[in-house]
Amino acid sequence: MKIIRSRKVMRREAMRLKRAGKRIAFVPTMGYLHEGHLSLVRRARREGDVTVASIYVNPTQFGPREDLFRYPRDLGRDIRLLKKEKVDILFAPAEMYDRDSVMAVDPGPIQDRLCGRFRPGHFRGVATIVLKLFNTVRPDIAVFGAKDAQQAVVLKRMVREFDLPVRMVVAPTVREKSGLALSSRNAYLSPEERKRAVTLRRSLLFVRDALKAGRKDAKSVLAQARRIPAGKVQYLEAVHPETLEPAKVLQKGLLAAGAMKMGRTRLIDNITL
Ligand code: AMP
Repeated sequence: MKIIRSRKVMRREAMRLKRAGKRIAFVPTMGYLHEGHLSLVRRARREGDVTVASIYVNPTQFGPREDLFRYPRDLGRDIRLLKKEKVDILFAPAEMYDRDSVMAVDPGPIQDRLCGRFRPGHFRGVATIVLKLFNTVRPDIAVFGAKDAQQAVVLKRMVREFDLPVRMVVAPTVREKSGLALSSRNAYLSPEERKRAVTLRRSLLFVRDALKAGRKDAKSVLAQARRIPAGKVQYLEAVHPETLEPAKVLQKGLLAAGAMKMGRTRLIDNITL
């Protein structure tokens, strides 16, 4: 596995690969890798000729009171895991922004829904870094996780609206046996919190079961579902999967998504109804 630390070298390598007719499949991450990330890497390996993973904890997607400085990091372990998965190139830049950079991608109104209400500026930071990574890595295919549903919606829209020549793949959420969605932030949870954390998923499954049982009124079902998580619910909604607009009537194909705080840790999850 080639490890590239500089944007210039990565760009040069990408151009060389493209001239050789290789399709680059790309998995951007913030590191502290788990099976969820590795499932995206395996998917990328199937989709392209050359697999590139990146590790970069992007400061512009963290709010001033968020966990940027304590975000878990273990590059040595991540390198071992990626080598085992036969990743061709790890792009782990020390820095992605110029000191004087001021430009950003504005994702429009969808950035204010769901997580955006609680993380102002987050999706702007995400869209900006992903555009920069795309311009450096030059992927033909990029793989993202369904776990971050709003992120996938914002990025697919960016690719469409900015005519980026990238095919977007969204791969399913990988979970523990308990049902808890894998997340680098699970490392913050005590064993006891970890047990309670599964209740977020349970609340989403409650919505799915209610729909199966023929209940259609989103307001009453969601009000009941919000009482299930054993943490402080930030939001629990049923929304249109592309516009993220809240639905009044429950129906198949909607996205049921939630976020809750367990102590200082913020957890998110979603399912498709
Ligand atoms: P992160 O390192 O948290 O920025 O995540 C990098 C990529 O991994 C994103 O596309 C996430 O959606 C994806 N991801 C994170 N957790 C999971 C999971 N449990 N299952 C599948 N993909 C995931």
